[in-house]
Amino acid sequence: MTSYAITPASEVTVPVVGSNTVFPVRRIYCVGRNYAEHAREMGADPNREPPFFFSKPRDAIVAGGGAIPFPPATTNLQHEVELVVAIGKGGLDIPESSALAHVYGYATGIDFTRRDLQILAREKQHPWELGKGMDNGAPVSPIIPVSISMPTDSALIWLKVNGETRQSAHLDQMTWNVAEVISRLSHFFALAPGDLIFTGTPGGVSTVIRGDVITCGIDGLPELGVTLT
Ligand code: MN
Repeated sequence: MTSYAITPASEVTVPVVGSNTVFPVRRIYCVGRNYAEHAREMGADPNREPPFFFSKPRDAIVAGGGAIPFPPATTNLQHEVELVVAIGKGGLDIPESSALAHVYGYATGIDFTRRDLQILAREKQHPWELGKGMDNGAPVSPIIPVSISMPTDSALIWLKVNGETRQSAHLDQMTWNVAEVISRLSHFFALAPGDLIFTGTPGGVSTVIRGDVITCGIDGLPELGVTLT
């Protein structure tokens, strides 16, 4: 039996709707600028450039949302509501035509961003970890398995701060759809069961402060709520 030198970190899991099982998270991948309106508001080219990717640490997950501490070292924390894809079957160089067969289920997530640190990193051509990889930076709703239901292309994706709508779009406004994202990401990494992919945010990202209540959702998926404390 293994004897650990220190106490090992705990498993990161997300509840699964309609069962007593939980989904064990392996890695978190994220897509940058996958809606034209968000690319525009970030001062980037809204045209169809190849998708680009970054990662968050898996223990940034806050399963089911709730109260989370306002992160340190930022004066410009922003919300990004995103469709989250949960991978159930791995693979390398997955063709688009079979990519959706690798999906276990879907959830609603928030890619919290320390925008001041991200923009500074962008200007200095530094990595994005300080802006994107902070603790509690990836709240995610319970996962709905595709065997139960799937969001439609026309599903509304929305986010409110203190009851006021900030982000509102439809999933078919994604520049790269889920099959294309899986296929392209799997060109760079062997995907494996347990991977989560945050698929990018629509326009309307805005700054949030301590005390704000953020609610978000996607038609057909569980809602997610977060309070910054
Ligand atoms: Mn994002």
